Order: sequence, then C-alpha cells, then structure tokens
Amino acid sequence: MARTLRFGAAAWLAAALLAAGCASGPTPLRDSRPALGTVVTIEAYGTDEAALRIAIDAAFDEIARVERALDAYSPTSTIAAFNADPYTERRLPEEAITILDEVERLGVGAEFSSALLAPVRLYGFGTTPTVPAPDDLSLSVAAARGFRRPTAATGVFARLKTPDPRLEPGGPLAPGLDFGGAAKGLALDRAREALRAHGVQAALLTAGSTTVTLGTKPGGEPWHIGVEHPRRTGTVMAVAEWTGDAALSTSGDYQQSFEVDGVRYHHILDPATGRPAAGIQSLTVAGRISGLESDILSTALFVRGRDGALAYARERSVSVWLVDAAGAVRSHDGAAGTGVRIEAVETP
Ligand code: AMP
Ligand code: MG
Repeated sequence: MARTLRFGAAAWLAAALLAAGCASGPTPLRDSRPALGTVVTIEAYGTDEAALRIAIDAAFDEIARVERALDAYSPTSTIAAFNADPYTERRLPEEAITILDEVERLGVGAEFSSALLAPVRLYGFGTTPTVPAPDDLSLSVAAARGFRRPTAATGVFARLKTPDPRLEPGGPLAPGLDFGGAAKGLALDRAREALRAHGVQAALLTAGSTTVTLGTKPGGEPWHIGVEHPRRTGTVMAVAEWTGDAALSTSGDYQQSFEVDGVRYHHILDPATGRPAAGIQSLTVAGRISGLESDILSTALFVRGRDGALAYARERSVSVWLVDAAGAVRSHDGAAGTGVRIEAVETP
C-alpha cells in the first residue's frame, strides 16, 4: 500500500479504459507497467511493431529514471539520500530543480510545496491512518518552511536548525522533500519525448491522475480522457477531448484519505497549516500544457480553492473542471480556444 502513496493514487482505470474504449481505427500497441506508485499505460500507434516496442521500452526507462531521482519513499533514490540529511546544502537532482522552477514560473509557490514529506507522513495514509497531534503538525509545517534555495543554480537545504530532537534525521518529524505532487507529470513528459525521439507520431501515456498525449491518431480521431467521479469510484463524470499534444491532471480528496468522526482527511495539504485543503472534492486541469504543468496545477489549484482556481483558468489558457465540497460542478474552459474541451457525461 505504501507504494500508492508515493505519487498520489490514481484514477487511472477510468482514463485508461475510456482511452482504450474509444480507440477505433488502427489499434495501438499497449503496455501497462507498475511505476510511480500506480500503473502507467502507454498506447503507441505505428505500423512497425518492433520499433514501437523499442520506443515504449525507452519511454519506461525515462519514467524509471525520474522515479530513481524523486521517489522519497524508496531508500535508494537520490531524493531519499538528500532527505537523510536535509541540514546540509547539497545539489538536488535535475528533475527536482525542473519542478521547483516550474512551480515558480506558474506562480503557485504558496500552494504547491515540495517540502511536505513529514506533514503528509503524519497522517499515515494507507498504513496507519492518524489525525496528527496539533503540536506535531505545526512543528513539521514550520520545518517545511525552512527549506530554502540559496541560489537558482544550487540545491535546496533546510536552513532551520532546531534543537527539537523530533526534527533530527531519522526522527518522527524528520523534514524532507516530496515531489509526489508533480513527479508523474514530469515522468510522462520525459517518456513522451523518448517516444518522439524514436519516431512515434501518436501516443497516449497515462499514470491515471495525469495523462499526456503525443500527436494525433492515424485517421485524425481525437483523444478522449475520462475524469472520474470523486464519490463514485470507477464512474466517469466528464470527458476531455482534443487532438495533438496536450495534458490533463486530476487531484482529488478521495485518492488517499480516511474519515474520523465524519471528517475526511486527505493527502493534499495546505502548506500554510498542514491540514487537508478544504472546499473541493476533485479538480481537473487540462490544456496545451506539459504533463508537469498540469500535475503541478491540479494540486496547487486544489489548495487555492474553487474561486481562486476558476480565476486562474480565466487568466491563463487552461481549463479547470472541479467538483466543490457540496458536489456541485464548476468549470472554466480557458483552453477551449486551443481545441481542448471537457464535457460532462450524463450519469444515471
Ligand atoms: P496530486 O495527486 O498530484 O495532487 O499529488 C498529491 C501528493 O502531493 C500527495 O500525496 C503528497 O505527496 C503531495 N502533496 C500534498 N500536498 C501538497 C502540496 N500542497 N503541494 C505539493 N505537493 C503536495
Ligand atoms: Mg499533482
């Protein structure tokens, strides 16, 4: 179960099934492998099956490379070595710097924090669900804020040195970096570039909660990506449609969660408080953006909240489709002008 925690769990089933169900005309070569804490599926179109297999292997190699760099829950990853001693200034892997740069560029640094490893761990999602003690939560949130990037070119280090033994490496609140809110998007981007470099002209890559496409299917039929209902697992409540390169990500309060006394605790935390972000059940971002952008934005805009998320979509060319805490759908089709659409599906 711990694996599903790493990069956030996924609505991969709906997305993959729908994508497959809508594939008429030429049949893609399809390969699904466990990676990034979920199942990654690649569907690649082409006539030379041997060449497609080589391309898909190269794509999964790229995904594995991102995972080896960023999987905070694997003892052998580069980020785990960083987290083992976060008080020493050290260069971060290139993948981490790419994510930090993108968060800054997108202007969502207040909502997207890559330093929430300890606060997330306190909830014990998937292992021992626990409502954290308020003191533990506030200490780990304060420590998370201590991560600083001295210059754009160097790594990040934890500046906050505190005598509290609970913050020592190996201790229960040991601070650490966790790129789980963006790693799937980055990995799918890298995999897509590997496919492109191998001459693949059309492919769909999904890690469930994030999907990216490459090119247009032979015959020109659009890609269709299902968005899962946040309260009816496996039910598709909306479908995104486009041709060409684009990306879609969904963040939800149902993906890693538990309930105590009628209160739902889930894995998307407000970096200001360490508490689960309130007000939204599920939020989907789609557009002519990279997988990394969509993955960062779905997490960050979930934290920003309903009105802030819709305002962001109005200001930038992205579409936001969300289900608020009351179950009402709100959306803004900021990407419609670029041919990326999300439409509701009638549910019985
Ligand atoms: P996603 O499913 O992409 O929204 O990512 C959720 C995962 O990102 C969580 O399981 C945490 O590992 C991590 N996370 C939680 N809250 C945040 C946040 N505010 N900013 C960045 N990452 C977060
Ligand atoms: Mg995300």
